Amino acid sequence: MGLVVQKYGGSSVADAEGIKRVAKRIVEAKKNGHQVVVVVSAMGDTTDELIELAEQVSPMPAGREFDMLLTAGERIAMALLAMAIKSLGHKAQSFTGSQAGVITDSVHNKARIIDVTPGRIRTSIDEGNIAIVAGFQGVSQEGKNITTLGRGGSDTTAVALAAALDAEVCEIYTDVDGVFTADPRVVKKAKKIEWISFEDMLELAASGSKVLLHRCVEYARRYNIPIHVRSSFSGLQGTWVSNEPRSQSEGQQVEHAIISGVAHDVSEAKVTVVGVPDKPGEAAAIFRTIADAEINIDMVVQNVSAASTGLTDISFTLPKAEGRKAIDALERSKPAIGFESLRYDDQIAKISLVGAGMKTNPGVTAGFFEALSDAGVNIELISTSEIRISVVTRADDVNNAVRAVHSAFGLDSDSDEAVVYGGTGR
Ligand code: ADP
Ligand code: ASP
Ligand code: MG
Repeated sequence: MGLVVQKYGGSSVADAEGIKRVAKRIVEAKKNGHQVVVVVSAMGDTTDELIELAEQVSPMPAGREFDMLLTAGERIAMALLAMAIKSLGHKAQSFTGSQAGVITDSVHNKARIIDVTPGRIRTSIDEGNIAIVAGFQGVSQEGKNITTLGRGGSDTTAVALAAALDAEVCEIYTDVDGVFTADPRVVKKAKKIEWISFEDMLELAASGSKVLLHRCVEYARRYNIPIHVRSSFSGLQGTWVSNEPRSQSEGQQVEHAIISGVAHDVSEAKVTVVGVPDKPGEAAAIFRTIADAEINIDMVVQNVSAASTGLTDISFTLPKAEGRKAIDALERSKPAIGFESLRYDDQIAKISLVGAGMKTNPGVTAGFFEALSDAGVNIELISTSEIRISVVTRADDVNNAVRAVHSAFGLDSDSDEAVVYGGTGR
């Protein structure tokens, strides 16, 4: 029996009962003969509550202190979980990200893992302990400051530890039975996917399916770590995410599927730079300004300029959390860039259709737009990749649009309704 890394999300450890339930599950894995390393998130909505608290004290909290605050959430969960395991008669030790050797760059609030040196974890499990590691946190290589990996970052901690410890599998335990063809909170008839490739899962995650974080899937693909996404509330098999189907039946299922799923994202906002002179260098200047502010953007659209004015508009989307910073940076650069004004809209949603089968099946794009049109949903921006089509719509339309597209592509299940076991979906 090899080593497994298990990650439990906030909804799985929302209260003392949850912690005790999870502790039993962990002990089962240990009793089955595995070495077990557990990554745990903050309890329930603790991270959101800490963010709200910080905002009451300071409108723009300094990155270093903000990270120090947020990492407290995972520290509480890891210590309680270790206590609960001990009270079941098993040996357990908890570790902060820094103690577990999670080394990151210095970008507070969204640090990247650059190395994992899990010597203390290895020693602890070799001594017969279950090692519990606080997710979502690390320590910067330069400066030795405490960092966080961005929202949902415990998924990445788990895969990074699984890679560094050469684990057999990384199990991600959450409040649904696996990865579904759409968010089960929105589409009751969503189907559980038995197996999905890293490639399709990456696109789903990047398009807002927060059941797995994009960076975590990227990491798993790079180190070829199979991920098993499953519920901590049921004993069911979940979804396997890996390079190749693990069985013939999984392979057949995939051959028939053109589309893996529909993802939606309401965490982005749209910035429109109005009246940009239509000449070389303008887009470069705008996006250099955004990049220098360390903001990642998503979709970009430039309109054709009206010949009479020689001016054009450029729109792009970005995380809402970065909106203020982007507007401030562009305002400062306005005299140099020479645009007329800025518009900011945070009432948007992005809806994406994902599937490798798109490459070889004509008509997917047309079917997607027809489904949206039949549902009366207006499209504001469009972007595509080889295996994804995304549109931006009004935020109010999102649920309607996701359900319409899910039905139109025959993804609705005719049997069980997808179960959501816990969590608030925050
Ligand atoms: P955790 O606290 O375990 O990290 P998250 O809230 O981050 O849990 O992720 C699980 C949630 O992801 C589910 O409750 C579900 O609402 C949402 N979700 C979005 N898209 C999907 C999808 N395609 N399949 C399953 N869950 C999804
Ligand atoms: N607790 C952090 C968050 O809520 C990290 C995580 O849950 O993965 O974003
Ligand atoms: Mg999560």
